[in-house]
Amino acid sequence: MNHGQIGLTRLNGELHRLRDRDAQEFTIDAGIAVADLVRTTLGPNGLDKMLVDSGRIVVTNDGASILDRMGIDHPTAKVFVETAASQNARVGDGTTTAVIVAAELLRNATGLLDRGIHPTAITNGYQLASKHATATLAANAIEVDRDDTDTLERTVQTAVTGKWDRDAAARFAALTVRAVRSVEGGGKAGLDRLTLKAFPGGSLADAELVEGLAIDLGSSSTTLVSPDAELPTVFEDARIALIDDQLTIETADAVSRVSIDSPDDRTAFTEYEESIYSEYVTDLVDAGVDVVFCQKSIDEPVRSLLANAGIVPVERTRQDELHKLARTTGAEPVQSTDELGPRSVGRATTVERRPINTTELIVVRTPAAEHRSLILRGGTVHVAEETKRIVETCIRSLVALLEESAVVPGGGAPEIELAYRLRSYADGVDGREQFAVGAFADALESVPRTLASTAGMDPIDTILALRTEHDRGNQYDGIDVESRRIGDLAEKRVFDPLRVRQRALVNATEAANTLLRVDDVIAASRSAEGHGHDHGTSSDSGGYPWAIGH
Ligand code: ADP
Ligand code: MG
Repeated sequence: MNHGQIGLTRLNGELHRLRDRDAQEFTIDAGIAVADLVRTTLGPNGLDKMLVDSGRIVVTNDGASILDRMGIDHPTAKVFVETAASQNARVGDGTTTAVIVAAELLRNATGLLDRGIHPTAITNGYQLASKHATATLAANAIEVDRDDTDTLERTVQTAVTGKWDRDAAARFAALTVRAVRSVEGGGKAGLDRLTLKAFPGGSLADAELVEGLAIDLGSSSTTLVSPDAELPTVFEDARIALIDDQLTIETADAVSRVSIDSPDDRTAFTEYEESIYSEYVTDLVDAGVDVVFCQKSIDEPVRSLLANAGIVPVERTRQDELHKLARTTGAEPVQSTDELGPRSVGRATTVERRPINTTELIVVRTPAAEHRSLILRGGTVHVAEETKRIVETCIRSLVALLEESAVVPGGGAPEIELAYRLRSYADGVDGREQFAVGAFADALESVPRTLASTAGMDPIDTILALRTEHDRGNQYDGIDVESRRIGDLAEKRVFDPLRVRQRALVNATEAANTLLRVDDVIAASRSAEGHGHDHGTSSDSGGYPWAIGH
């Protein structure tokens, strides 16, 4: 099939509408082309992609971020990008799988369309197959005890193999399990009590789980280097003030009170400024405050005065961090310092200032100690960012696992088993849907097939051998990527969360069905929307406001 290029470029200035098979080809071919972009990243031996965008380079192996960053304009690609994004947002993993299976469902649908099977019969059959597959997957899943640390860690490791070396994967899996457990409460994940921060400099091995809420001074413009004062690095039994405003002098306000016409007026103005500034400081000193977090800016003289008074000034604190500080320390944010009273001042067991890279972290530890912060390091800004993304994957996949407390073996074992079972299920399905169920089964095998090729094994031989094993009842047999052999993946303790695999199938089916229902692609003209013919501006679909008809 001549997919890809044609699909991506066919609708140009001369052609404004594609119908029926042309429309189907347009959407399907592009889907296959998009999946080809991420296919080789699948599995532990998947290769990385280097994305170059006006000088910025990102090296990644993650399906979702590749699609996201490619900025492809084709409407099919957008459906796939959304599929990957939804998979990522819900369960953090399985994005490449979802895209590969979706593309394979589209590819197999073309064969059925060629045989005159109506798209509706195909989408219905796919829907049936998807339901049967997810239920079968759940019925054959392996239950996991929430306290079974080893299985939890192994499962998190599977989510990140291929992204790090084995030691790093094991270390981060252990760290993730520890971090998520530390904020768990009443069977709930409590991720809002876990803060993730990544800083360039240092190495992966420097990652650390810190007890307390870490606020990053780098994102504020505060510098705590004060020529006159040496602030302590640790405050015991600290008092915290939260100002949901600024500690500055509003010029308009000042000018209305003092009009400057002469040197005397200038002096008066300076005195006025100083009196306001010292009011701020006196209020904070009187309230016994050790650290003040301000949502907006703090004028430089105020920062110096505060530092001299032994108070740490932190300006431009993010709104969400201000809320977290309020929750953990019991402080009530106030609009101005004169509102500070015993009830608005919060308490912390300790507040610690820690240098990190070129900036500083303020770690606030509270008596209930319910907040944790994962501090990640990576050589460069890019490495630090990528590390944070991978750790987010670890966390989401662990949460997905804990929600269901069940895993399935990895390495394509479940897909082969489901294909095997779907084929016998298909026999009982009436009408033309039966063919679609069979096509769904074939599409699932694209997962082990791709894993086999990225592992350097022969894909056809491997699939045949796996089918034989599953026929013999070895339902956990899959591709042991490390030894490049077929084996029992449950025995090798390679697991994926049940929910991740289920979600990948559901999302793949949804994406494929959305596109299969299209029989009309129209390059909607902008005049029809009442904007006139304005070829100079581009829309978010690269100049073509797309309309997909059903
Ligand atoms: P996705 O975005 O779909 O999660 P990945 O690149 O993470 O893509 O690959 C996931 C696939 O790789 C899953 O099928 C998983 O079971 C498999 N896999 C991961 N680690 C191993 C391993 N050590 N051995 C065999 N298969 C593995
Ligand atoms: Mg993965």
